[in-house]
Amino acid sequence: MFTLAIVGRPNVGKSTLFNRLVGRKLALVDDQPGVTRDLREGEGRLADLRFTVIDTAGLEEITDDSLQGRMRRLTERAVDMADVCLFMIDARTGITPSDEVFADILRRRSSRVILAANKAEGSAADAGVIEAYSLGLGEPLRVSAEHGEGMSELMSILRPISEEFEELAERTAPETEVAVDEHGVADLDKGKPMQIAVVGRPNAGKSTLINRLLGEDRLLTGPEAGITRDSISVPMTWKGTPVRMFDTAGMRKRAKIQDKVEKLSVSDGLRAVKFAEVVIVLLDADIPFEQQDLRIADLAEREGRAVVIAVNKWDAVEDRQARLAELKEAFNRLLPQLSGAPLVTVSALTGRGMERLQEAVFRAHDVWNRRIPTAKLNLWLSGMLEAHPPPAPGGRRIKMRYMTQAKTRPPGFVVMCSHPDKVPESYKRYLVNGLRADFDMPGTPIRLVLRSQA
Ligand code: GDP
Ligand code: GDP
Repeated sequence: MFTLAIVGRPNVGKSTLFNRLVGRKLALVDDQPGVTRDLREGEGRLADLRFTVIDTAGLEEITDDSLQGRMRRLTERAVDMADVCLFMIDARTGITPSDEVFADILRRRSSRVILAANKAEGSAADAGVIEAYSLGLGEPLRVSAEHGEGMSELMSILRPISEEFEELAERTAPETEVAVDEHGVADLDKGKPMQIAVVGRPNAGKSTLINRLLGEDRLLTGPEAGITRDSISVPMTWKGTPVRMFDTAGMRKRAKIQDKVEKLSVSDGLRAVKFAEVVIVLLDADIPFEQQDLRIADLAEREGRAVVIAVNKWDAVEDRQARLAELKEAFNRLLPQLSGAPLVTVSALTGRGMERLQEAVFRAHDVWNRRIPTAKLNLWLSGMLEAHPPPAPGGRRIKMRYMTQAKTRPPGFVVMCSHPDKVPESYKRYLVNGLRADFDMPGTPIRLVLRSQA
């Protein structure tokens, strides 16, 4: 299922459309003042189409800077979560400066925007609809959220997107969690291709890299022949191991054909992250660790993916040693949450570093799948407790008695203890860093849950 975000300034009719799509009055705004409302989510329906709708409504007209900031953040969040954004304007009012602010967010962050001119019932809206072209987001779709006009046109825009997502989900459904086996046996994924996404800013070299790895010009065959559904993920074999690479670059190119916003959006990358096991964050050696790179790397970590940082265009770098030192320093400073993740330098253009990249991916995947036997973990835990006992809030020492690995992909551990809520973050970090170091799990997200003893 795909996710549709309805965004736009207050009062254009977002809630009205949300209610219509979700089909319940449940979504009705509650009028209590001072209630800070966040994003609302519901299951949307248009005839047989099913999707998730996110609504940013419920914010009052912007009156001060803090609200404007909040509105912007909320909108950005919705946009990033969404596969498609429906940007709504009020065709009776015409375009306001506030609309331009939203249009700007969408241009920068979303690759699929449906521009909807609402309140378009009757001719009073005609001028506003024409004005809406000036936003540079394509042809406005006339709708009336209140009267239900324009819904079948909306449906015909959403249908191909829905089909694409169904197909993507079918092809790439990630493994469901494997049941815990404390002896660490049975890798149920044998034979399944590893899912890899290459994400990064536009022009980082993603297409070049995928082509290089594929060894043929498959993605660059142009809009007519090239961008088939096949290119959503590309099957290949790396040293005899089947892998599937997500072609976020191809998604961008397809988006272009459809005459949508050109820039690779963060959301394309986000989608790839969702489906991937290993995420290659591809940086341009000339402009590494830009905001967008950091955001996506952080997201990959939060989503629990294995991450490999690849610095591309290394062929064009002059003082390589100095640059590498800079990069490592920046990496540790800007992405401490990924500390230990492999950083490899590559040139997609010349093909240098491809083998090292593949090895780093395999290794990251391996670590991400690691299982540590319970007996070993408990031996380790008692050593850690002895070396550095947990604090004793209010004079009563926190006791940790037992530990087990509850999941893999990424590794997740449960520690049974007294007063889990009193264990400070610093102590959890001590344990996580210890796990990382002592069981050789660099670069993978590690989850640690404290549970009280029953
Ligand atoms: P939001 O703040 O963007 O969520 O806007 P609401 O959904 O709360 O709608 C704001 C106002 O516009 C309400 O008074 C709605 O009744 C009205 N409205 C919404 N859709 C339409 C429409 O299609 N036509 C007209 N004329 N009014 C609408
Ligand atoms: P994408 O937008 O991330 O898919 O980037 P592309 O693969 O389209 O590459 C963007 C530009 O960077 C193109 O002009 C490529 O030729 C160039 N490029 C890609 N990889 C390298 C590389 O390793 N070295 C150099 N010097 N240029 C590269």
